[in-house]
Amino acid sequence: MTEGKKIVLVAACALIDTDGRILLAQRPEGKNLAGLWEFPGGKVESGETPEDALIRELQEELGIITKHACLAPLTFASYSYDKFHLLMPLYICRRYEGIARSMEGQALKWVKPKDLRSYPMPPADEPLIPFLMDLL
Ligand code: C5P
Repeated sequence: MTEGKKIVLVAACALIDTDGRILLAQRPEGKNLAGLWEFPGGKVESGETPEDALIRELQEELGIITKHACLAPLTFASYSYDKFHLLMPLYICRRYEGIARSMEGQALKWVKPKDLRSYPMPPADEPLIPFLMDLL
């Protein structure tokens, strides 16, 4: 149910390397859902499109530069947490400049598609896995 709940729009990205692995980031201590592994991204701020937000977040969190033409929408997560309803488009990005590194202290892991289920994820992210498995 979304009635009465705030809707939060988060853009997420499956960053894919030349070996077909996907980058996961671990939510840090002190944050909601700490310790779980997620697709990098973040909240869409006022005046941004999801793509704008991802380009900004990927630079802030991972130090990489990408552009709108390199972000392909794959699917959409819609999940009702207790306090808000999350809408989260998932994009695929295979082309970017720079080497992804942890800019905010979060652990990062390049994961083969078949191993994605070994990393506990937020409940909104988990249903996205089959879409990636079909694609990769
Ligand atoms: O990353 P941030 O804390 O700003 O995201 C807002 C909320 O969206 C999180 O508290 C979490 O519940 C949810 N989220 C998620 N999966 C992600 C990113 C965020 O479920 N990949």
